[in-house]
This record gives sequence, structure tokens and C-alpha cells, in this order.
Amino acid sequence: MNYSHLFFAKLILALLVTCSTNVTAAPDQVRPLRVVASFSILADLTRNIGGDVVDVAALVGPDADAHVFEPSPADARRLAQADLVIVNGLHFEGWLARLITASGYRGPIVVATTNVNVRRGRGVPDPHAWQDLRNGRIYVENIRAALVNARPAHAASLNERAEAYGAKLVALDQATRARFTAVPASSRRVITLHDAFGYFGAAYGVEFLAPQGWSTDSEASAANVAQLIRQMREQRVRAVFLENISDPRLMLRLVREGGGVIGGTLYSDALSPPGTAADTYLRMFEHNTATIIKAIAPSAATAPRATAGAP
Ligand code: ZN
Repeated sequence: MNYSHLFFAKLILALLVTCSTNVTAAPDQVRPLRVVASFSILADLTRNIGGDVVDVAALVGPDADAHVFEPSPADARRLAQADLVIVNGLHFEGWLARLITASGYRGPIVVATTNVNVRRGRGVPDPHAWQDLRNGRIYVENIRAALVNARPAHAASLNERAEAYGAKLVALDQATRARFTAVPASSRRVITLHDAFGYFGAAYGVEFLAPQGWSTDSEASAANVAQLIRQMREQRVRAVFLENISDPRLMLRLVREGGGVIGGTLYSDALSPPGTAADTYLRMFEHNTATIIKAIAPSAATAPRATAGAP
């Protein structure tokens, strides 16, 4: 081998080393982790914890109903390119298994409700666990652990963000409980269309009546509607709420026949569009609490209240 051969051999070796170093370094240091969350609330939690380490997309967007979602080919393509998928679980995303198969996605699937104390009725789990802010903290911990696992180089910043965001959830949880405690227990009874607020009711001492069950995939039965109208009249339950994901017609009938009043719109299973009142998990909670309190205890609604601050 003469001198020039040696030179080229060294050059090629140097190029190979450079290339292989770039290949291993690129995913963790250059490109954000591509996360697909099943619905808007999980996407918001993930953005809060992940910051610029993640690039998050939601399959079911603002004001959309995850119970009856029909995935498109574009959703399958999005899933195919994901590094991480985050779902609620507890049968909330009945369409997910088929979508995962169709997409060919083989990466990790994080179930955000892991370790949540699940409410059940006749053995069936209530999926709406995010409606208790203490469960929100469990979601945060599950998502944090998954992001750290996927991007260990960013563990410190991810842990820091999760802790700061978790502290906001704790503060809002305590403020929410205090606000409802100030309202007489006999007034804390309201009506929504689908039974999405069982965790909220148990956490903050509010009784939610609903003609429809835990899913929106079947209509409220005539018997349930008739019974609810009777109960409204007998027990003078007046506060009726619309939901951002549901058709308001049945609720307007309950108001007419049961003698109720529409108290506003609650955000049950989806955030509102960006820039509107309930466009983050924290703002959704503040909006729902303020809307319910205003309807059941108008005098308490004007009292000073804690705010969660930034999203
Ligand atoms: Zn629901």
C-alpha cells in the first residue's frame, strides 16, 4: 500500500466513523419524539410534560367524541410514523386495536390510566378517570416515565416539567374541592347527557345524573329519560348541562319537561379548540367547575377563586 492508498483508507474510515456517530445520535438529539395521543386531553398533558422534546398529535381532536370515533387512512399513516402512542385505556378507545393493526405500528403503547383506582358498574370500567385531578397526576406520572424511557438524554428536563405541571394539578385539585365544599350538599346535584363525570362527582362531592351511560355509542333509553324527568320534578334538580361532544336536543327536552335550566356547556371527553375557554386540561377543569358552581350556587360563583395560571 503506497502513501496515497493509506490516505484514502484513513479518509474512508473517518467518514464511516462520522456517519455511524450521526446515525446513532440523530434520533435523540435532533428530531423531537413523535407522539400520537388518542384524544385531545392526553395530547395536552403530553405537551406540558414533553415541551420541545416531543411533537404531539391527537387522533380525536377538540370537541370530538372519542367513543364513536372512526379513524381515517390518514390516522393510520400518522400512527405508522409515531415513536410512541399514548391511550386512555379502560375501553375508551374501542377503535384502537384495529387502527394499530391497520397502521403496522409496533412501538410502545402507554396506557395513561395504569395504576388508577377504576370505578366500575356491573364489572364494566368507567373510562373518564381524567375527571379527577388526582388521577390526572397518575396520567402525568405514566406519561413522564414513558417519555424518559424514550428520551433518556432529556430525563432531567422531562422530570422537572412533570413535577412543575403536577404541582399545578395538586393546587387546582385542592382549590376545586374547597369551592364545592363551600356549596351546601343538597345543591350539589346536576344533570349531564352521558355519564362522564362519575370520577368528578366522587372527588368533589357533586352528584351527576345522566340519562345516557358511560359511552355515547347508544341513545338514552326512553325509560331512563322518563325516570330522570320524574326525578327532576320531585327533587327539584334544575341545573342541566350541555356537553361539547353531544347533541343538545335531549337536554333541551329535559329542561322543558323536567323544569330545569341550561347551566352552560361542560367539557367531558374533549378540550375546546385552541384559543377558547377549555383548550387545556387545566382550563377545562376551571371552566367546568366555574360553570357548575355558577348554576348551583350563583352567590358562591362571585367569590374569589384560585386559578391554575398558565396552561
Ligand atoms: Zn365519555
